Amino acid sequence: MSNPPAADTGLKVTGPQVIQRLDYRAPDWLVPDITLEFALSLDATRVRATLDVERNAEGETGAPLRLNGDGIAVAGLEVDGKALNDWRMDGNDLVIDLSGDKHRVVIETVINPTANTQLSGLYASGGMLCTQCEAEGFRRITFFPDRPDVLSRYRVRMIADKAKFPVLLSNGNPVASGDAHKNTHWAEWHDPWPKPSYLFALVAGDLVATRDTFTTRSGRKVDLAIWVRPGDETRTDHAMRSLIASMKWDEDVYGREYDLDLFNIVAVADFNAGAMENKGLNIFNTRYILADPETANDGDYDAVEGVVAHEYFHNWSGNRVTCRDWFQLSLKEGFTVLRDQQFSADRGSAPVKRIEDVRILRAAQFPEDSGPLAHPIRPDSYQEISNFYTATVYNKGAEVIRMMTVLAGAERFRKGTDLYFDRHDGQAATCEDFVKAIEDGAGLDLTQFRRWYQQAGTPHVAVTLTHAGETATLTLRQTVPATPGQPDKQPMVIPLRTALFDRATGANRGEHLLVLTGEEQTFTFDGFAELPVLSINRGFSAPVAIDNPSSDADLVFLAANDDDPFARYEAMQQLVVRHLVAAVGGQLDDAARSAGRAAIGKALAAVLADPALDDLMRGELVILPGETYIAEQLSPVDPGRIRAEREALKAWLGTTLASEWKALHDRTSAVPYGLEAAARGARKLKTQALVYLAPADPAEAVARASAQYAAADNMTDRQGALMVLCGLDGAEREAALADFHQRFADNALVIDKWFSLQAGSLHPRAIEHLKALAKHPDFTLTNPNRVRALYMAFAANTAAFHDPSGEGYRIIADLILALDPINGNVAARFVAPLGRWRKIEPARAALMRAELERIAAHSGLSRDVTEQVGKSLE
Ligand code: ZN
Repeated sequence: MSNPPAADTGLKVTGPQVIQRLDYRAPDWLVPDITLEFALSLDATRVRATLDVERNAEGETGAPLRLNGDGIAVAGLEVDGKALNDWRMDGNDLVIDLSGDKHRVVIETVINPTANTQLSGLYASGGMLCTQCEAEGFRRITFFPDRPDVLSRYRVRMIADKAKFPVLLSNGNPVASGDAHKNTHWAEWHDPWPKPSYLFALVAGDLVATRDTFTTRSGRKVDLAIWVRPGDETRTDHAMRSLIASMKWDEDVYGREYDLDLFNIVAVADFNAGAMENKGLNIFNTRYILADPETANDGDYDAVEGVVAHEYFHNWSGNRVTCRDWFQLSLKEGFTVLRDQQFSADRGSAPVKRIEDVRILRAAQFPEDSGPLAHPIRPDSYQEISNFYTATVYNKGAEVIRMMTVLAGAERFRKGTDLYFDRHDGQAATCEDFVKAIEDGAGLDLTQFRRWYQQAGTPHVAVTLTHAGETATLTLRQTVPATPGQPDKQPMVIPLRTALFDRATGANRGEHLLVLTGEEQTFTFDGFAELPVLSINRGFSAPVAIDNPSSDADLVFLAANDDDPFARYEAMQQLVVRHLVAAVGGQLDDAARSAGRAAIGKALAAVLADPALDDLMRGELVILPGETYIAEQLSPVDPGRIRAEREALKAWLGTTLASEWKALHDRTSAVPYGLEAAARGARKLKTQALVYLAPADPAEAVARASAQYAAADNMTDRQGALMVLCGLDGAEREAALADFHQRFADNALVIDKWFSLQAGSLHPRAIEHLKALAKHPDFTLTNPNRVRALYMAFAANTAAFHDPSGEGYRIIADLILALDPINGNVAARFVAPLGRWRKIEPARAALMRAELERIAAHSGLSRDVTEQVGKSLE
């Protein structure tokens, strides 16, 4: 995105323009119909847009027609069939005075897709042409009221070279097509469903389709196609299966049926985000479509399934009911993430899915909520909307709606969503509309609950449990931390699924839904002869941090015995987090360290031995809490010490349970490849065993990892082995890396893994490796996947990124400056790691701040980077 030039008012622009949620005004003009004619070519595409405009009764009387543009110029303009010269530019906006209430406006623009490195608007990717219009990309194609509350019916005609662009796709249904002059051909598409401009899409290229069909429950036969580059069609089966399963699931669980005769998906290699829900023509990053056992690991399979479902579910939660303005983004994203999470839970192991989702929330959203970029799930202001496609809007947004399901129960929640879809079908709605529909449909009072939409910050709940006579008394006290612009907070509604276990018998005495609404509340439970064992926030029923008073012994008990699988995992995590936080803080003497380790070792041994556990769940229970989550519990943070203590614990567990890990590796290595849960669980544990053995017995780990690599008939085993080798020294490491690169040289997605594994490795010289990789011929700043593969993995590699020399910070700042002119949207994503400086120990914090200041001193930064850097320095 480019900076907004000073509006032609004679006034100087003093600061960045801030858009406020409460400034929303209805559009002055509507565009019920639009026809777009494209003469497509890679470097000069002509666009002729015919807009039927009419005044909006709710708009300002007599207002001129104001159309947004970004980096485009008017090449021709007609109103009601006559050339018009009486128009003006106001900054990026095209302004036309119109006397009547209805007009036909025809605008011509010429754009260069090849020069579009921002990948927003119409751009070229590997010889094909495609669009990305969310949030504000449509204005880079033509002038338009580019806001989600202007809904239009689209007719699209494309003409293009027949050999270069044999396939021409747009939203809705194909109407007609044919050959044209010279070597060109044309196609016309029509989308009967009115939609905002951000859902417009066009694709032209040499693509091949994998096809299938789905018959909806009311009998509509839908043709399904997944379009990829020739050669990739062998890797679309999983995506197609996932699509069909999603279509069925949305009918069964939410009563939502697909509404066109055709559903197209296109995979492109250059894409800023994961995928895009354009009406009837979803466009995907290749990494969320292409999968086969040889090139995609089990996590990739899950990601494909989840993202295909996510985009499909948007057809209702996003497209049929869209957003009034971009502050309402969580209306579609929070709800759709919840829906895709529920779908994946139903498809595989629900407890494991829940654990994975919470792990993502803690690793990505909790740090956001406690840093300078914290914002409510419905933000109050923004400079650049692209910066608000965040873990807060998406993942915390999903957690907030999930709490509604906890409060209402599945059946009543469904009544709420039915009412929501019914009431708002065809509309551009608000988060408030959603909450009101759930209130009315599910019969809930969400008055206080609405604070989840208003207040940022992760609530903390301090817990005490006491016992006297026959009564256990549980006291809960909540605090919501101050966040930028929100110093004082009101208490939230926090639903906590809670159980008490009888200490003598180990029996669960029943689960209660405790709803904390005040700052402090006390709950009593009778019939306990002694202090019970507490299991709280089961299933992670609320996205909060619990300060849990349970003893290590109680946590060991829960890790082995809790009947809620999430609570089991949580007890295990708590046990380790508590130990590592104390160790990093220097609070452990030798005796305390031994006692802590012994408790963790005991719990882990029990998990390894428990015959009742399936391997997929066992695999979750043995994963140590991540470094960022540990860092969240500390202030100030010394990232080097977190790495050192976490690795030391791993080494101790690797040594103490060495024979268990070897036996586990032997057992799981004998399980043949398959996509079923048991085989997947075995693969997860196979690599985990190596992860523990690596710091304990490097020679043994290298030998086993090399063997695993050599024997691998799937990417999960191969990548797991290579990950472990990457953290260690030796000829085996170099040999495996060379083999991997050569074996997959023609597969960009796998080469991304090759970059990530090295940039994210535990190897002490990871910085050196990163610097060499940045100069590798396969590296490029113009492909977002490649940039993220190298540098996001590095920024997440805490010990390397936080190297005391400050070199890691310099590398990321240099990257931001180099990438910003190419792709400001992706560049801005790298600011957050530097923005965390306030929580880091003072020496490193000063270096991080200095890099942010160095970036800020540059002129001509994108609005994206300007906003993130500005907020990080405030
Ligand atoms: Zn989405």
